[in-house]
Amino acid sequence: MEPLLLTPGPLTTEPRVRAAMQVDLGSRDPAFLAVTARIQAGLLALLPEPEAFVAIPVQGSGTFAVEAMLGSLVPRDAGVLVLVNGVYGARAAEILTRIGRRVLPLVTPEEQAPDLDLLERRLRADPGISHVVAIHCETTTGQLEPIAEIARITAACGRRLLVDAMSSFGALSLEGVVADAFAASSNKCLEGVPGLGFVLVRRDCLQAGLCHSVALDLHAQWSRLAKDGQFRFTPPTHVMLALDEAIRLHAEEGGVEGRGGRYRENLRILVDGLTAMGFVPLLPADRQAPIIVTFHSPSDPVWDFPTFYEALRSRGFAIYPGSLTQTPTFRVGCIGQVFPADMHRFVEVVREVVAELGLKKLSPELS
Ligand SMILES: *Cc1c(COP(=O)(O)O)cnc(C)c1O
Repeated sequence: MEPLLLTPGPLTTEPRVRAAMQVDLGSRDPAFLAVTARIQAGLLALLPEPEAFVAIPVQGSGTFAVEAMLGSLVPRDAGVLVLVNGVYGARAAEILTRIGRRVLPLVTPEEQAPDLDLLERRLRADPGISHVVAIHCETTTGQLEPIAEIARITAACGRRLLVDAMSSFGALSLEGVVADAFAASSNKCLEGVPGLGFVLVRRDCLQAGLCHSVALDLHAQWSRLAKDGQFRFTPPTHVMLALDEAIRLHAEEGGVEGRGGRYRENLRILVDGLTAMGFVPLLPADRQAPIIVTFHSPSDPVWDFPTFYEALRSRGFAIYPGSLTQTPTFRVGCIGQVFPADMHRFVEVVREVVAELGLKKLSPELS
């Protein structure tokens, strides 16, 4: 039996999504061009102002889309402030450094919210900063970043915002989030299979010849798609057939609101259940996104993540290790084809495993 994936992606997908891949379509076949166009329209429809944006698919995992966004939209002489409180903010800064942009990371500890007063002071003090890069949900911890506030401050200071919306797109509203671009991928809250990233870019922001990379050049990718509906290089046809079906399912579930609603219910059952047992979440409820939850590792001397993982795995659930540098943690995802009934079952299984392993002290040592 395959376990249910309580991870940040790849996720458990709907059988209809996997079944959609059982077709070999030529990349120039009119049926495939229609799939591409439908996906583009479907992605745009999830934005508050769809007509102002274009949807540009990029082959690869989510990071390829982030790298395409940064390389294609940040001018060579730009200064970029990157909000960093986790792995993905740090990765955006690393990409920008690698491609030779002037990067100004604004680093806050992983379990803390970004310092918005400091953001504003930095922007006002340094006119050389033209862009801000922010993560919507920092998947490292599951933190919901104050993206609307970040957007408001960035716009008030006359700067441009680029958003990594990878783990939130399709489940969390972007209402009021004014930005030049949003990057996301097929295999997170849209519940497709991995293999396609995409960037939704404000129409007037695309500029020819800016990107350092041929394969990741969003302007070139967009020009070709606008010309004849085709990719420049081999598209992941099966992945896109699956995404086309996944977007249909997303609409059937009630769009961003419906999907986000189910994830919020999953979150509530998970956090209530594990907290009642004595586990302690890393983040306060008001900064917890309904995507993935970080729990402190229990301080009980018998605690061993691989043993805990295996015991849950053998009962049908795959969880995720933590990735915090300072604090020992583990993570449990709320996204994918996972429903409240599954979450209730998961909580019961955790209770069984805790008893079986003889775990008594589930809270962390608070020093
Ligand atoms: C998953 C994720 C990415 C992309 O990761 P890949 O492993 O390249 O798909 C980027 N940013 C965030 C916030 C993510 O959650």
